[in-house]
Amino acid sequence: MSSYTDGRFRRFSVRSAADHDALTGLYNRRYLNHYMEKIMGAAHADFYTALMDLDFFKKINDKYGHLFGDEVLIGFADIMNRYLPDDGISVRFGGEEFLLVLPQMTEEQVRDLLEKMRQDYKAFGRQKCGEDFTFSCGIERYVADMEITALFSRADDKLYQAKQKGRDCVV
Ligand code: GH3
Ligand code: MG
Ligand code: MG
Repeated sequence: MSSYTDGRFRRFSVRSAADHDALTGLYNRRYLNHYMEKIMGAAHADFYTALMDLDFFKKINDKYGHLFGDEVLIGFADIMNRYLPDDGISVRFGGEEFLLVLPQMTEEQVRDLLEKMRQDYKAFGRQKCGEDFTFSCGIERYVADMEITALFSRADDKLYQAKQKGRDCVV
């Protein structure tokens, strides 16, 4: 965990349970909201959010059991953290939905990062049970004066489009 490089909005130094998801260790929604208020208030806020939802996760649970499903969620969190830049955060947004906040990156860099995650998650599934695992993703760039709820709802619309397009893709 790191603090934002210019020091204007320093990350909390204590890893409190209230800020983290117990299963994956990622940040939770509570922390996310706090963090978003801080970075959106900054003069030069510039970041992307990537909202991800694991594909056919219910089938994975049904076929291999809930404990196996939990291991998949933990594995996905590891993959997220593998490519997370020092000033970004990884969040468990809901059950099998995750969010990355990625400051100071171009869209191309964000897409490269997501492609690496796509390959890793696929390989993870193959190694774990011989199946390719996939996820769908909507990315949205923050522009000045956007509401947090509007930002997330736009990302969610794009995630929905990615599912409609057949999953395993980024919109
Ligand atoms: P889609 O590709 O459309 O996203 O289909 P899906 O099956 O992934 O989506 P759906 O919303 O139907 O199912 C999500 C499942 O995720 C259902 C729920 O039981 C499971 N889930 C949510 N949280 C957890 C968890 O903490 N552990 C496990 N094992 N499963 C979870
Ligand atoms: Mg879902
Ligand atoms: Mg899903």
